[in-house]
Amino acid sequence: MIYSKAGLVLIAVNPYKDVQIYGEEFVTSYRQKATDNPHVFATADTAYNEMMNDGISQSIIISGESGAGKTETAKMAMRYLAALGGGNGRIGRKILETHCILEAFGNAKTSKNDNSSRFGKLTEIYFTETGKISGAKIQTFLLEKSRVVQLAAGERSYHIFYQLCVGAPPTLREKMNLKMASEYNYLIQSDSLVINGVDDAKKFQKLVEALDIVQMCKEEQEQAFAMIAAVLWLGNISFQSIDNEHYVEASADEALTSAARLMGCTPHELNQVLSTHRVQAGKDIFVKKLTLQQAIDSRDALAKFIYASLFDWLVEQINKSLGVHKKYIGRSISILDIYGFESFKKNSFEQFCINYANERLQQHFNRYLFKLGQEEYGLDGIDWTKVDFEDNQECLDLFEKKPLGIFSLLDEESNFPNSTDFTLANKLKQHLHSSSYFKGDRGRAFSVRHFAGEVLYDTNGFLEKNRDSLNSDLVQHLSSCNSELPRLFAKKRINQSLKPTISSDTPKQSVGTNFKGQLFKLMHQLENTKPHFIRCIKPNCKQLPDMYEEELVLQQLRYCGILEVVKISRAGYPTRMTHLEFAERYGFLLLETNAYQDPLSISVAVLKQFNVLPDMYRVGYTKLYLRTGQIGALEDRRKQVL
Ligand code: ADP
Ligand code: MG
Repeated sequence: MIYSKAGLVLIAVNPYKDVQIYGEEFVTSYRQKATDNPHVFATADTAYNEMMNDGISQSIIISGESGAGKTETAKMAMRYLAALGGGNGRIGRKILETHCILEAFGNAKTSKNDNSSRFGKLTEIYFTETGKISGAKIQTFLLEKSRVVQLAAGERSYHIFYQLCVGAPPTLREKMNLKMASEYNYLIQSDSLVINGVDDAKKFQKLVEALDIVQMCKEEQEQAFAMIAAVLWLGNISFQSIDNEHYVEASADEALTSAARLMGCTPHELNQVLSTHRVQAGKDIFVKKLTLQQAIDSRDALAKFIYASLFDWLVEQINKSLGVHKKYIGRSISILDIYGFESFKKNSFEQFCINYANERLQQHFNRYLFKLGQEEYGLDGIDWTKVDFEDNQECLDLFEKKPLGIFSLLDEESNFPNSTDFTLANKLKQHLHSSSYFKGDRGRAFSVRHFAGEVLYDTNGFLEKNRDSLNSDLVQHLSSCNSELPRLFAKKRINQSLKPTISSDTPKQSVGTNFKGQLFKLMHQLENTKPHFIRCIKPNCKQLPDMYEEELVLQQLRYCGILEVVKISRAGYPTRMTHLEFAERYGFLLLETNAYQDPLSISVAVLKQFNVLPDMYRVGYTKLYLRTGQIGALEDRRKQVL
């Protein structure tokens, strides 16, 4: 039994094996309400029905650690919704096929999950008045770009690289001068080229089918694959010193020619842009040669930029294909699959952003379940001892306050030319030491007291990752290439920049500030929906079935606030019905039917007849409130009689 409920929250424990509870017969059974056991289908069903009945948009918020089963759960929820609102089936099918595309380009094997999503995702599914799917929109968050050029031992880069290398048909291979994965430097840095039990060639066929289904034409598909091949060849470009100086140029070899050809430029032009920078001094422009490390950085920056731009472009293409007419954008169900809280031995900018996002989501969760639930009792005239919960606004302030929050200080320091990780750490310590959520540590480290525990961050690389600067030479170069996609990517970057200038780094909004803005928008979007929460739990760290590590599970339950939810459900009255609803549903069970007329008296009489103890329910002005487990007996009796 992998599903259970804590109050309104569905808990899903990853079984790490196929369990036979997702077949068509289960879809039908939840659809017909023949069963009400906890299940992701039941959650999706509730969301759908509430949307249909109340006309309010819904959200299904899925969280949990890496490998806990968020993405699989999200897919199941969408499959169920597609079955309910399928209509002619085409749009539902399309939505389901997008998983395969985004997973190829956005998932990778990590030490925690063979198919780990390296981006956050919100899928909004729109429905018509009659409950048919009319379209969908996907929004992504923070793709991990560094993986394209740098791999940890035992991990892989994005699936697409391996899929293309083994799956591409001969004509395509020839066009792109494609080799096996083992010949590309970016891929062989880690000792891991294959995943147990996964056939990358077959996955490639599936990917192409999915691209066909979202109506991406063959020409565009080839252009996308060419960008993947270009990134691989870029990684093979090596540099040699010129005239025994410490300046370098790219070796004129197969890698340089192939990368150049795929990008639509000459090897000479590509060498120029990788091994020199133009510097503006007054009215003059100088050409500065680069050292080996600078050239490598420039090459890797180009590869990362091309990859991330390609990913964004793909999402855009998918959205075009799933697009809806504006008149249908009214009611929707949004499914959020986003990385959970992370605390490793070494935590960097990525963990910092991820944990900030979780802090925000936790507040949404807290406020909804605790505050709103409790406010309702008050309004309906019920006395009620407030259950305290720790609001994390103060911790969020530590991140968000202007000008003295971490994001602001980080941006300020990112704009200083001579700043280093140490100056950043000192600045944070100097301004934030008074917050009880912040603690300066030795050297360049600091820690934050998150709702889920204290995390120690190492500022190494924070400034660089926050700036995410791309030398404008590289952007200019792409904009002059002959291939369509590089030009498009450059154009987008230029539009993002506030004031593109030659020979300085193209300025744009910092990664941190941009992410913060994205999250604000997301929270605003979620606040306008009725949320349904699913917490995914990892039973062990080995990705193995039938192995349950109690300590590990308990820690996750703590991290996601489940213990408080249980407390509040026990103390509270989670079952709520208006007097009328209750009377209509159970009134006919009364033995003396004629004695009572109004819904309130009927309801109370039913409760008395079934010996529900006075402490087990409360009568409000408009609703009846029952403790957990009280409605079961009534429902059983009702079913028997019907
Ligand atoms: P997350 O998105 O939380 O990182 P995933 O959804 O990718 O985790 O799940 C990791 C792996 O666990 C999947 O590839 C799959 O093998 C297994 N898994 C997750 N949920 C289920 C499930 N409901 N039934 C069977 N296997 C599952
Ligand atoms: Mg995932």
